[in-house]
Formats: sequence, structure tokens, C-alpha cells
Amino acid sequence: MSDDARMYSYSAVLMGSPILLKLFEHNEPLASRVFSLIKQYEDLLTVNRAHSQVMDINQAAGQQPVSVSRPVYELIKCAKAASLVAGGAFNLAIGPLVKCWKIGFKGDRVPPAGDIAQRLTLTDPQNVVLNDEQTSVFLTLPGMEIDLGAIAKGYIADRVRDYLRQQGVTLGLINLGGNVQTLGSPEGGWSIGLKKPFAPGTALLGTIEVMGQSVVTSGVYERYFEQDGRRYHHILDPRTGYPLDNELDSVTIIARQSLDCDIWSTLIYGMGVEKGCAALRARSDIEAIFVTKQREIILSSANHYRFTLLDDDYRLIARTV
Ligand code: FAD
Ligand code: MG
Repeated sequence: MSDDARMYSYSAVLMGSPILLKLFEHNEPLASRVFSLIKQYEDLLTVNRAHSQVMDINQAAGQQPVSVSRPVYELIKCAKAASLVAGGAFNLAIGPLVKCWKIGFKGDRVPPAGDIAQRLTLTDPQNVVLNDEQTSVFLTLPGMEIDLGAIAKGYIADRVRDYLRQQGVTLGLINLGGNVQTLGSPEGGWSIGLKKPFAPGTALLGTIEVMGQSVVTSGVYERYFEQDGRRYHHILDPRTGYPLDNELDSVTIIARQSLDCDIWSTLIYGMGVEKGCAALRARSDIEAIFVTKQREIILSSANHYRFTLLDDDYRLIARTV
């Protein structure tokens, strides 16, 4: 299937998400190797099945440390560091709450308040104990669970980019359900759509043009359910155990590494615009696009991409962090 004369698109469904690979050559065998690679990482990292390396850790919670492969260990180490950033919303130990809300899965509903309070006691990232020599992870309390849903797609997108590069590909794009990583740059750059929150179909607020960068969005409009007239989305506030509630509909991060994008999209989602921009002052390599409920699109800065507004209902505000 081709989009234009030179671009070929390949799709699959993995990690419960639509996956899209774009290449500038017709190469089905390469596309299937890329999908197998993604599947291998899914098999290591998933918490949606009985077995994976992460599930081995979760099942041994309160009992003993579990040694895992070096890449899984390093990813967990990185997720723990992100979980300790002051003021951020990222928490790798959020698993017990994700499992009880079930947002995006069958049976989602608002859990009893007592359940949430009890599970909150199982989400302290300090209770994820790491051992570099043994590459082991120990969850000190029974019932604790790691969930890498806010970081794993970013990590995997980077691995796909590396693999394509290693295979001699100079131009390519991988989209892991909203987690985009690019390799090289076609003429004029890659154009990535910024989705309009809650709009039907493929309505876009604008386009983001990048060259060799990743673009990742955390939004409240992809996975949510409604109960008694209220909307509950999948990014949980580690302080309260309920979906994060602030001025934002989405945050998009642009950076070289998709891993950074995925971490920061969740971190900054919890900080909101002001604190988020303040945090980015120390990171000129990471840029954010905030979409607010007040229909503003706020660019923390725009040094490594170009944004084009397509929706007149929204006001564009460009800051310099
Ligand atoms: P992000 O905004 O980056 O992260 C949100 C996700 O992170 C939530 O869905 C939750 O899993 C977790 N989370 C919530 N709050 C926090 C928090 N405060 N801190 C840290 N993490 C938080 N979906 C399916 O429907 N079926 C599947 O079988 C399935 N398998 C998957 C296997 C793997 C390996 C991965 C990585 C994902 C899988 N998913 C599956 C999707 C997954 O459940 C999440 O919905 C998805 O990872 C969210 O990605 P995002 O970039 O949209 O969200
Ligand atoms: Mg994320």
C-alpha cells in the first residue's frame, strides 16, 4: 500500500495499538522483521498477559528480587529515575491503580474510594529496589506492580529506529499508536499531525514538521470512559489515584529520543503549562506543545520543529520557555 509515488506504509496491531511503518522502498520482509522486533519487546514488557519479564517481577512482589535481561533492567531503572522527579506525574509503580481502573480495557469503572486509597499505599517508587550487579528488581510489598505503559513505547520506537538504521535504511517513520519516531528526513521534513481532542475521525489542530526527531503525545482523549456524565482518562495522578485533572487536554513532546518524549509527556502532563515550561528551561533538547481545555496551543519553544495551525477555533501562543 503506498501513500505517494515513493512512500510505502505497512501496518499491524501490537501492544493493543495500531502500528504504522513508513518506508521509501517496497520491502515487506523488512516490515515484518520490524513488527517481529516490536512483538519481542512487547513479550518482555507487557503487563497485560500472565507472562513477561515485568510480570515475573510483579508476581514476586513482597517475596524476592527477580533478575531480568539488561535492556529490561535499564528501562526499569530509567522509569524509576523519572518517577522520582519532584512535581512530575510519572510513577512506574502505578500498576495496582491501572489494574483497578481498567481504563481502555473491558470492565472499566470508577473503583470504590477505599480501594483506591488502599492501592495508593502500594505505589511508592522507592519500594522498587534495584540491583545493578544482578540486574534484579524487587518490589518490597505484596501487591505492588510495575507498569511501563508510559515509557515502553518510546523505548521500543528508538529500538526500531536503530534497527532500521542498522539495516541500511536512511528514511523511515514508525508510529506506535501516537508515539512517532523518525529516521532521516525527506524533503521538507516529516509532517506529523496533532490530533484535535475529542474530535471525530482524523481532525487535526495542526501539523508538526520535524527532521530526525520523535513526536509523542499524552492525551486525555485516547483512552477514557464516561460514568454519570463524567469523563475518566488513563493518566492517573500518583498523588490521588484518580485521573489527572488540570488545564490540559494533551501534551506533545518533541526530542531526538522517543524514550525522552514518552517520559516527559507523562511527567509534564502532571506539571501543567507553567511548571512544565519551567522544567524545560534546563532542557533545550526537549520541547513541548500543550493543548489546553481553553482551546490554546502553547509552544514551550519551537527551535527543533515547525508548527502550523490548522484550526481557527484554537489560539496559538508561542513562548520561549
Ligand atoms: P502515556 O500517556 O505515555 O502513558 C499512560 C499509560 O501509562 C497508562 O495507560 C497506564 O498504563 C500508565 N500510567 C497511567 N498513569 C501513569 C502515571 N502517573 N505514571 C506512569 N504511568 C502511568 N493496550 C491494550 O489495550 N491491550 C494490550 O494488550 C496492550 N499491551 C501493551 C503492551 C505493552 C508492552 C505496552 C507498552 C502497551 C500495551 N498496551 C496495551 C497499551 C497500554 O495499556 C497503554 O494504554 C499505553 O501504553 C499508553 O500509551 P500512551 O503513550 O498513550 O500513554
Ligand atoms: Mg508517556
